[in-house]
Amino acid sequence: MSNPEHDELVRLRRVLGPAGPELTCEQCFEQLDRHVELTLSDGDAGADAAVPGMRAHLEGCPACKEDHESLLALVAAEAADDGAV
Ligand SMILES: [Zn+2]
Repeated sequence: MSNPEHDELVRLRRVLGPAGPELTCEQCFEQLDRHVELTLSDGDAGADAAVPGMRAHLEGCPACKEDHESLLALVAAEAADDGAV
């Protein structure tokens, strides 16, 4: 069933940004540092609670997921260095 009004609503919503909890790539990028730090200090659950929508975005966005993973590895390596000194 195709409903033009519904299609228009979907199009508008896409332009205005997500109505749901999922972040845009821009919002995801802004929260990346914070989410990574919280992942290391509080675990995945703590980070997801503090930055709602981040997990959902990473699941659906390979580019941001890759950024997240490399930043996580970088920050984790830095934290390990600090611990060793
Ligand atoms: Zn993204």
